Amino acid sequence: MNKVLNPTSVKEFSTLLEQSEKIVLTCHVHPDGDAIGSTLGLWHLLKSIGKQPSVVVPDVPPRSLRFLPDFNEIAVYTRHDPYCSRLVEESDLILCCDFNKPSRQDHLAPLIQGASARKVLIDHHEGPDIDCAVEFSYPEMSSTCELVFRIIAACGLYSDIDRNCATCLLTGLITDTQNFTVNCKNPEVYEILTRLMEKGAEKGKIIEECVKACSYDSLRLKAYAVCDKLEIFTEHRGCLITLSKEELDRFNYEKGDTEGLVNEALNIRGMVYSIFMREDPDCIKVSARSKVNFPVSRICSELFNGGGHLQASGGEFHGTLEECRELLIKNLDRYDRYLPKRFEKLDVRQQ
Ligand code: 5GP
Ligand code: MN
Repeated sequence: MNKVLNPTSVKEFSTLLEQSEKIVLTCHVHPDGDAIGSTLGLWHLLKSIGKQPSVVVPDVPPRSLRFLPDFNEIAVYTRHDPYCSRLVEESDLILCCDFNKPSRQDHLAPLIQGASARKVLIDHHEGPDIDCAVEFSYPEMSSTCELVFRIIAACGLYSDIDRNCATCLLTGLITDTQNFTVNCKNPEVYEILTRLMEKGAEKGKIIEECVKACSYDSLRLKAYAVCDKLEIFTEHRGCLITLSKEELDRFNYEKGDTEGLVNEALNIRGMVYSIFMREDPDCIKVSARSKVNFPVSRICSELFNGGGHLQASGGEFHGTLEECRELLIKNLDRYDRYLPKRFEKLDVRQQ
């Protein structure tokens, strides 16, 4: 495997690890498979080399990740504020995984930023903006879990990856690549997959648990959304689904129930981008996905105060769901110039 990591950073990171006992692993708000996979994966690794690690996350991870080994060890800031504060304040080192700026941690940001412990950034988003002693920022990588695997190997700790660590890391690889369909052109991703499977991670089981498994209510909610709420903007090659609080309540919505929904409409032949807006208690949460390098991250950063990856991004809107929808529709023209010149015919019959 190519040695892509900066050797100085690897050395500095190794030294920091040697000097530290209490190590906090933390990630972004609304943690996904890559955020939890990278932090909990490192937790397992650090345990096996005799450290005292803890995972501190801003809010509750989705149910789909509960199968991960030692998931219950995760300290959730919204649930155990004083406990999380103590872990962070007493730590020697903080590893910031899968986020590029403090605001991505929401209300946990002041605690992490105010801590006296040295910090290390481990991330694959563009534009890192966190004050850190060591920075591993590799936007070209499929996932933070891929990066974590490479860092572990570069530090000479490959033999300390056990089955639990491998399961966590493979989870992030799977979720961020959507089962190895996006962001995984680099053949080395499959070399890492092989290594993690050799260590005991079960690919099929992970996909079953965290990508496919859902509740009856969640399946019906997604079917309703696709059937009754999908708007197609034919000339812009884009589409939108909105779900209000009332609609979510109708299907007994639980966090994680709309996971994957934004990808569904993108499967229509000739569709270039798909947007989903959900009325959460504190804001309208926007999720966007695209194909053929259409920059949905621009839509999210310019209209919805967000960002992310070129083809998978998100943001938030403060206002009503209808205002959020109108803001998008009013601005769709602005993004037409990023559409591919030639692309498959849109497989939607005119109504
Ligand atoms: P999702 O649509 O799954 O919530 O998020 C997809 C990706 O978009 C995430 O991995 C993250 O990189 C980015 N993202 C989602 N929400 C936000 C947000 O509110 N702000 C920023 N900056 N990025 C976001
Ligand atoms: Mn990620």
